[in-house]
Amino acid sequence: MTNPKIPVLIVGAGPVGLALAGDLGWRGVQCCLVEKSDGSIYQPKMDMVGIRTMEFCRRWGIASWVENSPYPRDYPQDNVWVESLTGFEFGRERMPTKDEEPCPAQSAQKRERCPQDMFDPILRRFASQFGVVEFSYRTELVDFSETKTGVLATLRDPKGEQYHVACDYLVGTDGAASVVREKLGIPMRGEPVLTYTTNVIFRCRDLPSLHDKGKAYRFIFIGPEGTWLTIVAIDGANRWRMSIIGDKSKREILETEIRALILRAMGKPFEFEIESIMPWARRELVAESFGTERVFLAGDACHLMSPTGGFGMNTGIADAIDLSWKLEAVLKGWGGPELLRSYGIERKPVAERAVKEASANLGRMLAARRKAPPEIAFRPGPEGEAARREYGDWYTEVMKQEWYSTGIHLGFNYYHSPVVCPDGSAAPHDQVSDYVQTGRPGHRAPHVWLKDGGSTLDLFGRSFVLLCFAPNHQPGSNSFVDAAEERGIPLKVVDLDEEREAREAYGADYVLVRPDGHVAWRGNSPPERVGSIIDTVRGFEKATDRSPPKSGHSSKDTTVSAGSAH
Ligand SMILES: Cc1cc2nc3c(=O)[nH]c(=O)nc-3n(C[C@H](O)[C@H](O)[C@H](O)COP(=O)(O)OP(=O)(O)OC[C@H]3O[C@@H](n4cnc5c(N)ncnc54)[C@H](O)[C@@H]3O)c2cc1C
Repeated sequence: MTNPKIPVLIVGAGPVGLALAGDLGWRGVQCCLVEKSDGSIYQPKMDMVGIRTMEFCRRWGIASWVENSPYPRDYPQDNVWVESLTGFEFGRERMPTKDEEPCPAQSAQKRERCPQDMFDPILRRFASQFGVVEFSYRTELVDFSETKTGVLATLRDPKGEQYHVACDYLVGTDGAASVVREKLGIPMRGEPVLTYTTNVIFRCRDLPSLHDKGKAYRFIFIGPEGTWLTIVAIDGANRWRMSIIGDKSKREILETEIRALILRAMGKPFEFEIESIMPWARRELVAESFGTERVFLAGDACHLMSPTGGFGMNTGIADAIDLSWKLEAVLKGWGGPELLRSYGIERKPVAERAVKEASANLGRMLAARRKAPPEIAFRPGPEGEAARREYGDWYTEVMKQEWYSTGIHLGFNYYHSPVVCPDGSAAPHDQVSDYVQTGRPGHRAPHVWLKDGGSTLDLFGRSFVLLCFAPNHQPGSNSFVDAAEERGIPLKVVDLDEEREAREAYGADYVLVRPDGHVAWRGNSPPERVGSIIDTVRGFEKATDRSPPKSGHSSKDTTVSAGSAH
């Protein structure tokens, strides 16, 4: 550590901590990231970088780094349901390769496949570009104490020696067994265990050449007992992750049994090498609160969900984006007390929404346990063929929602936040598989291609942005500029009066967009009290006329101890 008091101490260099460090660095905010391991990834978990995360990567100028990762862009992304790789196929969802998949109309980006052992190094390289970001690997947070003016953290260095570091703010991105959450005494609420699952990484060169199902991203194995296993292509080449799905009963699976299950999945003997085995618990949990005045939680530290859907890391990175500009604002003096308080208010309902959908996806995947294939479906011949087709068509329909979830990735909103100015407009229908863009306050500012070839998304990030669609907007925009200047808040005015499509998507002549790319206020004329709008969105005044969002989450108290697996 080079400074006596660092502005932000981040604990945990998983993808969420790395993204937070990167975004803070990009904003010029000094921070230090401590990580207890050496940063090596032995079991890559996530591999789907969602569309919103890709929009952040675009903002940071690193979208091409993800697109050019070693993951093969010509590898088919099909999801296939089979008896075994050499046995019967029930059906499949054909999915394009990354090269073939077009960007959806709602975005300038698309979701990408980039496994954690490729994605984390990209985020680390991005964050390392900024001199204000300091990394300390093999350094563990042991304890901390919070006062009105700062936080004193106790760290253990690689030699095992403890030392103290003072910081203004501490963020726990320390994962499922978060020490930060534990020390704050914040309980997790929800379902502590959905399944006890065992992940096995195995190597087999050119596995697709050993069977007739072709290259696919994921195979779901369905036997007479229903869904029992999945195998995904981690690197699109030689490494495969097998998940023995399990159920609510915890039991150790020995390597001999694992080997037998791999052979059952293949349906014939073949050569493979087991690289690692990781038992873990699939959970449905959201932290009761996302922090205190100076200590915050982000990522798996405050929400744990089934990986079905690929929402975990993507939700965590969106936490980091929400928190980062707010930390910048208060550290630079233009953000008020409501701003950091709004972090948990904005993000907790988003986490609850994602967690529930992830569990629903798990339920759909396991629907084949409630309705297993009929015995005839495992027999050759035309009758068996017909039974397989009928069963497979049913399962294909059941599973669709997991593969198409643009609404989950783009459709969350902060309308009820104390730092967003509501406009009384009706909430759009909350959909999972589709998303209709809206400029309603609190929502992600819509993507529209502009006449200069850029996206509206490219306008956002470093400051507040006032989009002006009205011709002759100068008097109105000047009142915003004056109010922002008086308060030292960074504001850029963008004249879009020629952009009719964008005006339609944003739904008003003036739209104020926050540094994270969410709409803060909109109206057809500048408000009478512009200063009050600015004070609300920078957290010095609470927005009025709002009711809190309803939380539909079940409420079992759970504390995941520091020793428990993910
Ligand atoms: C099989 C599987 C597949 C998945 N697929 C996807 C997917 O496709 N897309 C997706 O979005 N999500 C996916 N997820 C979820 C995703 O992997 C997690 O949500 C994500 O890794 C969480 O990131 P994080 O940075 O919050 O936590 P972690 O990745 O758990 O990182 C936490 C870090 O903190 C460190 N740490 C802990 N305690 C301390 C301490 N006291 N001091 C210092 N350092 C500490 C740890 O060593 C660790 O490096 C998947 C999960 C699984 C299990």
